[in-house]
Amino acid sequence: MPQLGFGVFQVGDDEAERAVAAALESGYRSIDTASAYQNEEGVGRALRASGLARDEVFVTSKLWNSEQGYDNALRACDASLSRLGLDRLDLYLIHWPMPGRGTYLETWRALEKLRQDGRVRSIGVSNFTVETLHRVIDEADVVPAVNQIELHPYFQQDGLRALHRDHGVRTEAWAPLGQGHGLLDDPALARIAQAHGRTPAQVALRWHLQIGNVVIPKSVTPSRIAENIDVFGFELTPDDMKSIGELDKGLRVGPDPATFETA
Ligand code: NAD
Repeated sequence: MPQLGFGVFQVGDDEAERAVAAALESGYRSIDTASAYQNEEGVGRALRASGLARDEVFVTSKLWNSEQGYDNALRACDASLSRLGLDRLDLYLIHWPMPGRGTYLETWRALEKLRQDGRVRSIGVSNFTVETLHRVIDEADVVPAVNQIELHPYFQQDGLRALHRDHGVRTEAWAPLGQGHGLLDDPALARIAQAHGRTPAQVALRWHLQIGNVVIPKSVTPSRIAENIDVFGFELTPDDMKSIGELDKGLRVGPDPATFETA
């Protein structure tokens, strides 16, 4: 899985098609969508128009809350594949655990079946908490390949990252730029950016890469799409990493997965 990919949250089909085309043109080879984003058709169109071979691009989608349950999950994967125009996903995730609903374990069994049948190459979870991830690891046959969680310098998720490390689960950061608000105006990021002749967004992404996260920044602006992948030609110093490590405020920009159950 490429360590840096491209996300398309809150982007309709046509805009997703243009943004994914620009991303593939800039060199991204991993795209993160979801059935809930309602843009899998646009993503699929951009993938086909790129002329890239299927195995050159890593494609992730996610099963929505209303699609949980064993049979629903099998059908949901077929529907995502058909909207994308693909016969296989590289990674399929349960979007939210919904612990109050109690269906994530049977949903996970369906993902194990999809993996066994070759419909998806690997399976993982998203927004799983320490408790819900522990339960999957303890009770299921397959350990999730990744847990895609909100993670950025203001919300560093040390507890989950340690659990992932102990069990070989890859940490994938959503909102890696804190969705753009506030975080990118942080004075410490600005100071480090200036010292490297880079932007605060590039410094934030570089921090993720250096602590081992997979990142999927989103933008629909071609210049920012190019800027966000241009992060392999510089390195943050141990002092820079320490300063960014000290920015954690426990500040979420998204919902709390312990209670989020929107269908
Ligand atoms: P993000 O942190 O990637 O922020 C995106 C926003 O930051 C953009 O809309 C833009 O306003 C700004 N931005 C982007 N590049 C910039 C730059 N170079 N300079 C200045 N501003 C810039 O937030 P996100 O979109 O929420 O997260 C990234 C991806 O993660 C999503 O697109 C989606 O694929 C995924 N995601 C998953 C979940 C989940 O529940 N699993 C939730 C949210 C997002």
